[in-house]
Amino acid sequence: MKKSALVLALGLMTSSASTFAADNSTSYAWNQFQSLLEVTQKMGARVAGTKQENEMAQWMSDEMTAMGYKVKSLPFKYRAKNGKVESQNLVVDIKGDSKDIIVVGAHYDSTGEKAGSLGILDNGSGMVALMALANDLKGKKLPYSVRLIAFGAEENGLNGSKAYVNRSDNPLKNVVAMINLDTIIGGDKLYVHSPLTKPYNCSYVKSPTFESSPELREALRSVSKDLYGKDAHLLHQPFPGYPEGQTGSWSDHAPFACNGIKTAYLEATNFEINGKSGNDGYSQVTDKTFWSCFDEETIGACDRKTEHHWGSIWHTKFDHPDYLLPRFSKRLQKQLDQNVNVLSKFVLTADKWIKK
Ligand SMILES: [Zn+2]
Repeated sequence: MKKSALVLALGLMTSSASTFAADNSTSYAWNQFQSLLEVTQKMGARVAGTKQENEMAQWMSDEMTAMGYKVKSLPFKYRAKNGKVESQNLVVDIKGDSKDIIVVGAHYDSTGEKAGSLGILDNGSGMVALMALANDLKGKKLPYSVRLIAFGAEENGLNGSKAYVNRSDNPLKNVVAMINLDTIIGGDKLYVHSPLTKPYNCSYVKSPTFESSPELREALRSVSKDLYGKDAHLLHQPFPGYPEGQTGSWSDHAPFACNGIKTAYLEATNFEINGKSGNDGYSQVTDKTFWSCFDEETIGACDRKTEHHWGSIWHTKFDHPDYLLPRFSKRLQKQLDQNVNVLSKFVLTADKWIKK
């Protein structure tokens, strides 16, 4: 059959199927990301402790419930500048062959609202990955149990993850690993980090036992490499105070690492950019839209004194569909699918990676 005839035949065969679109076949994750954008554009930013944060928790809870999962809401209070604030963590337990549990967590609050951020990458992307993972694992045989946790109030001090690990009902019983998802799409490259070998400040934990093993990080990299080869998750290059592949205590993996649990942290950014404070990963993209002037040669600002934007998306006006979709739609979709596929494959084959 000639190519044109084949195309015609395929066209006829599938013309009634609305899901057939040559360049547009979409995953559950990407469709769910579109739903999140819709909800977010109506709702606005979801700052910790606000009505919008609570509404977002409700939306996620409804979505997970519709998939057939039981969603537990764990409310907590924390002290902020304006007094006591209420938020909640959401927990979904998926039973596996072993009682031992792999936690996959992502915060769902947002910040940078005054600058115009809607938090669709930070951390809408992590939330969507949690939902897509839940969808992928439906009815699957799992070697380990999986616990999905959506943390509230991360942006103003990891309040949700701290509240979770400090609960009195033994919340870390059987937990053997924790994977944190925070801004996992949008940046130029995908990374996976492990905690610093130098212990974090764990003063909020009663009897801290710090765990900085890179074992989980390396397992995720192996899975990513098997699936995506040269596009696999990277280790960031070293910069002062942060050896290769090691990250600080600024996200929800930290309270788990402070409790002796092996952790890893997925992130999309670009450590090759010479940003405001050097190659620290705070500049996420080289795309010129996100700089006053980007210099290809120095991989940084044309003039460090006059630069305003520094290629950062999180916590800025750029974390908004109006900026991101026209430029990065394909990239966002590809990175989201890649992260979800790596997470799925990792938990489905966890007995290979986590030794009893
Ligand atoms: Zn975040």
